[in-house]
Parts: sequence; C-alpha cells; structure tokens
Amino acid sequence: MNKKNPKRLLIIGCGGVASVAIHKCCQNSDVFEEIMIASRTKSKCDALAAKLAPMTKTVITTAQVNADHAEEVAELIASYRPAAVLNLALPYQDLAIMDACLEAGAHYIDTANYEPEDTDDPQWREIYEERCKRLGFSAYFDYSWQWDYRESFENAGLMALLGTGFDPGVTSVFTAYAQKHYFDEIHTIDILDCNGGDHGYPFATNFNPEINLREVSAPGSYWENGAWVEVPPMSIKREYDFPEVGRKDMYLLHHEEIESLAKNIPGVQRIRFFMTFGQSYLTHMKCLENVGMLSTSPIEFQGQQIVPIQFLKALLPDPASLGPRTVGKTNIGCIYTGIKDGKERTIYIYNVCDHQECYREVESQAISYTTGVPAMIGAMMVLTGAWQGEGVFNVEEFDPDPYMDALNQWGLPWVVCENPQTVE
Ligand code: NDP
Repeated sequence: MNKKNPKRLLIIGCGGVASVAIHKCCQNSDVFEEIMIASRTKSKCDALAAKLAPMTKTVITTAQVNADHAEEVAELIASYRPAAVLNLALPYQDLAIMDACLEAGAHYIDTANYEPEDTDDPQWREIYEERCKRLGFSAYFDYSWQWDYRESFENAGLMALLGTGFDPGVTSVFTAYAQKHYFDEIHTIDILDCNGGDHGYPFATNFNPEINLREVSAPGSYWENGAWVEVPPMSIKREYDFPEVGRKDMYLLHHEEIESLAKNIPGVQRIRFFMTFGQSYLTHMKCLENVGMLSTSPIEFQGQQIVPIQFLKALLPDPASLGPRTVGKTNIGCIYTGIKDGKERTIYIYNVCDHQECYREVESQAISYTTGVPAMIGAMMVLTGAWQGEGVFNVEEFDPDPYMDALNQWGLPWVVCENPQTVE
C-alpha cells in the first residue's frame, strides 16, 4: 500500500491559479517532493506536468477527478495518500472536497469560501435567506458552511486552512502581522485591491468569469461597530493614488475576509474592501447584467437548458490567455489605523506585482500569480508543520512571520509604509 508522505500534496484544479501554484511547488521541491494534479479535464494536467517535469525534482502525477463528488475525491486521496489536499478548483467544490478529506484522512487547504453553484436550490435558499436577515449581507458566499466543519476536523485530528490566496489570504496575514508588530489595537482596516494592468480587450475578467462577475455585481457591504452595512452595488466610489501604479477609481465591494477578520481581530471598529475598475469594465458589466447575461438561473434555449453566465464565460477570453498581453502592475494591500503605545498610528502594507514579470516567470498574469503563490505558501505552512492545528482555521489565526518571510522569498515582496494616504 502507498505510504503517506508528509511531502506529498494533491492539487485539485488545473486552471489559472493552479497553474501558478503548481509552478511554484515545482520550484520548491524540498517541501513538495511529490504532487498530483487532478482535475476535471485531465489533458490540461498532463500538458502542465509534461512541461514542468524536465525542470523540477518534484515528482508529478496526474489524474482525472470530478470534485463535485466527494466519493471520487476520497478514493483518489485513499490511493495517492497525500498529507494535504490543495483545492484550486471552484468554490462550488469546497464542501465535497472537505468531506473527502475527512473520509480519507488528509488536511484541507483552499483560496475561496464555499458558494453553491445552483443558487435556486430551495434547501440552500432557505438557509441563505435566514442568514441574510440575521447577519445583514446578501452575498451568496459566507464562511458558515465551512466553519461548521470545525468539530469534524478536530475529531479527525486534521486541519482545514481556509482562504490562502491574496485576498483573502495575504491581506489577512498582513493583518495578523500588523496586529503582532505594529499595533496594540487595530481600529480600522481598508483592504485595497488595485489592478493597474491592461490586457487590450474591451472586456475580460482576470480570473474565472463566473466567480468574478458574481462577486462584483453583488451589493457592497462593510463591517462597522459590530454589524454589517449593505449598500447597492458599486455605490461607494473613492479615488486612491497607488504607489507604483498611480491614481485609480475604486469601489466598495463585499469580500469574504471581512467576515473572518471581524471575528479574529479583537476591537476592530470598521473593515472595508475596495477594488479598482476601469470605466469600460463597468459599462460592459452593467449592460450584460441589464440583458440578463449574469444570471445563474438556467433558461431554455432551442430545446437545451443553458445558464446565461456560463454561456458568457464561453464567449469571454480565457483568463489564462491574458498573460502574454497584460502590461502594468497590481498593488494590493491594507491600510490600518489604531493605537500603539498610547499613540495613534497609520500604516499601509502592500505588494506590487508586475504582470509581465509574472508572465516571464510562470507564463501567467499577475492576478493568477498573486493567488497561486500564496496558495503554495499556505500548503507549505501545513506540510512543514510551521502552522499546525486541529479544526478549521482562517490564515490570520496563525503566526504571520513564517508566511511573511515566504512571501518575500517566493515572489511577492511586501512594503510597510508609515503615514500613507488614507481613504475617506
Ligand atoms: P479556473 O476556472 O481558471 O480554474 C478552475 C479549475 O478547476 C479548472 O481546471 C477546472 O477544470 C477545475 N474544475 C472546475 N470544476 C471542477 C470539478 N467539478 N472537478 C474537478 N475540477 C474542476 O479558475 P481560477 O484558477 O481563476 O480560480 C481557482 C480558484 O481560485 C477559485 O476558487 C477562485 O475563486 C479562487 N481565487 C481566489 C483568489 C484569492 O485571492 N483568494 C483570487 C482569484 C481566484 P476544467 O479545466 O475542466 O474547467
């Protein structure tokens, strides 16, 4: 029987983010001695494995899996015996993969919290509507589904590490780092996600279009004085002068790390999330929304059921194809205000990433890069035991220092700036 190797990782998904994470695992063969790439379309896994094999000591195998079915994933875990599973498929598969990890005995790691594929499912809808009323935000995704697995992971002696992308992920680790080294009390957090890149298309999304468009067309919300405040989509706009990128318009969005940071950062009074969008993107999105193309509910078309947003995805450029054409930089980080040694303090921790440099290194644009690198680092924290625990955790619950060191080492160096411009 295949013996469990603490340096063996099963990666599910082989899209934009996974491709970067897999490149990075292969650069880090001391930690990742063996990886399996398993996804719905095995040919993509085989092509990536063939490309990387000559350049790495990491032993790569591939498999086909439909991760909607927990039993298929559990069988794969039982035969491959990895220490952990890195879920880089879609948020729709989170719960099935967590079930499989529990059944077959592997740690679980992901970059995005659970969201159902079918938002018309009456059973899910009932729970969702009760949550909207109770908590006051209406996004389709929230942490409750995965936090409910705490006891099962504790009982199994396993760890689930949630949200190790950039946002959530690095932004949450920045927050733990600010809390540990810069503040006695953090009062406000503004998470700013700026993409100053240009791919030359009138409209394209930088990661999975379905997930991206669902996120940005939803109402915005923020956390203030212990409660959620929800506002209409794109109704709060600010301008910010981003280091190395310049002045950009940004809009307040609901974002998943607000939910966990509100729980895990004691005394925080306000948490907001802003993302930059150009006018062309917003005009296209509004138009697509107005004609019903962002709908997730199936419609009958020429005798066939189609989901409009999935059809739109088929028409849009594949995010993985944007790499060679995207120029410019991203700047993603967090502005913190609070108190240190009785005095008020404001800092901005951020990373700047250059699209073309990412492309030269791993043939991806910076959005996949800034998510794939932290996905590898999260898996490294688990496999090396730098982060240990039994249960379900968000990244800000662990010591940020080894993760921050790894960001510098593996391609996402960060800057701490005192007294930055703040957001009104
Ligand atoms: P892609 O659409 O590029 O890739 C998704 C991959 O998952 C594809 O290889 C797809 O296979 C595979 N997949 C989909 N469904 C299944 C299934 N049922 N079983 C097995 N494999 C499946 O997405 P991205 O790489 O852009 O995003 C990956 C994840 O990263 C998402 O969860 C996204 O939300 C998250 N993300 C997180 C960010 C963060 O900062 N935290 C930022 C950006 C993304 P196929 O090739 O057959 O379609």
